[in-house]
Amino acid sequence: MKTIKINEQFKEDYIRVLNHIANLFFEDSKIATSHDEADMVIQFNYSIDDNYTIHTASELTVEGQTYKSNYSINYATEGTEKEQGIRMKRALSHVMLDVLEQYTGMTQEWGILTGVRPTKLYHNYRKQGLTDQQIAEILKSDFRISDAKIELMKEIVDRQLKTIPDLDGIGKEISIYIGVPFCPTKCAYCTFPAYAIGANRKHGRVESFIDGLHIEIRAMGKWIKENNMNITSIYWGGGTPTSIEAEEMDALYKTMFESFPNPETIREITVEAGRPDTITPEKIEVLKKYGIDRISVNPQSYTDETLKAIGRHHTVQETIDKFWLSRNSGMNNINMDLIIGLPNEGIEEFQHSLDESAKMQPESLTVHTLSFKRASEMTRNKDKYKVADRNTVSKMMDMASSWTKENGYVPYYLYRQKNILGNLENVGYSKPGEESIYNIVIMEEVQTILGLGCGASTKFVNPETGKITQFHNPKDPAAYIMTFEEAIEKKVEMLEDLYNVQLSK
Ligand code: SF4
Repeated sequence: MKTIKINEQFKEDYIRVLNHIANLFFEDSKIATSHDEADMVIQFNYSIDDNYTIHTASELTVEGQTYKSNYSINYATEGTEKEQGIRMKRALSHVMLDVLEQYTGMTQEWGILTGVRPTKLYHNYRKQGLTDQQIAEILKSDFRISDAKIELMKEIVDRQLKTIPDLDGIGKEISIYIGVPFCPTKCAYCTFPAYAIGANRKHGRVESFIDGLHIEIRAMGKWIKENNMNITSIYWGGGTPTSIEAEEMDALYKTMFESFPNPETIREITVEAGRPDTITPEKIEVLKKYGIDRISVNPQSYTDETLKAIGRHHTVQETIDKFWLSRNSGMNNINMDLIIGLPNEGIEEFQHSLDESAKMQPESLTVHTLSFKRASEMTRNKDKYKVADRNTVSKMMDMASSWTKENGYVPYYLYRQKNILGNLENVGYSKPGEESIYNIVIMEEVQTILGLGCGASTKFVNPETGKITQFHNPKDPAAYIMTFEEAIEKKVEMLEDLYNVQLSK
């Protein structure tokens, strides 16, 4: 834990922002306004002049050395009080980042940007009418983002607009997420709503959950139909939605197609079959029967010891076999996920994962960086797991990027997480033309995503203002069974509030 002492008068929201910056450099850090035993001290000076120019300066004192930085930025208008606060926090972040970069020798490629959706920021500037050149200048000067990351953002934004040409107007439509909260076993890094299916089956919770889900799909489908909305995409996630029986999947998809309007206009339906141990020829037949051709088969790693260490309970061979079973049965849009920085994995193991992926050439490949999420078993027992250092993680990201280029993939979405190893990003790659529409709309928050089932969050996105309101279905199947009817009512109410005025225009 590094304790950094800063100016005494700083308020909570300033401290929070500066703490995010400190966390980019140190695994665990604390900002204090009074502490006698701080590891380092940063003294800030700041002012705004009559021309709306903000001036900031910082001086870091650590281990007998001093590091200094200053930064000024001019704004055309005075701005509201809220805008002034944001501008000042940004300017202070600049000089804090700068002195910490000098001291640690690290370079933060994402600069002072700590948010999870960098490309949403790019889209916002684009929608304001700025050119790529102007956006690049702002990202560089205001956020200190590296040229390479700006280039990546531009490439992804262009690709998204090619995939969804009506992206800016897609708020008129809606997408659906359906959560099935069961898995064969729980993985060690998992924070998703995932419950071991065996025990839940024994207590009748699987059947009761599915009964409730049929009702929820019908009710929400009725509202969508009555309000003449089109559905852009549907995503079955969880848990692992293929962990239920083939007949149960069949019945649910039947309800889905009967309940939702204009199935022919739905642009994409994905079913996560993440755990290879859940895929069977019968389930693939069901997917094919309903024309669902986008699935996810997730290896995470191609090293058996790693799979064991993270509690996946399936083998590498099983992943490979199930991939080919799906492919040879006609599945022509398969996504695979890899995770960088799994326990005991370094360059060699990751290279092996890439070599194995090359043999399969899935239509899309998502490269995640391991994040220590608070609720996971891995975080609770962090000492048990030996993970790669920042430099190695960064090298593995570069390997993924070169590998995808060599194998004809393009990046089409990206997101960042807090507590992500090496402060890097997660990138979704695909073969050109095989980008997932759902992944784009969820990442860029351009339309409402209605969440059904367990652990499903609904994000209501106002099509005019972009304002977001959320509603969360319960994570636990037992709670879902008890409360799904109230959840339906509440969501209908929120949909009415959000769309009725606009739909009647
Ligand atoms: S397969 Fe996915 S959802 Fe299921 S336990 Fe593992 S990480 Fe969690």
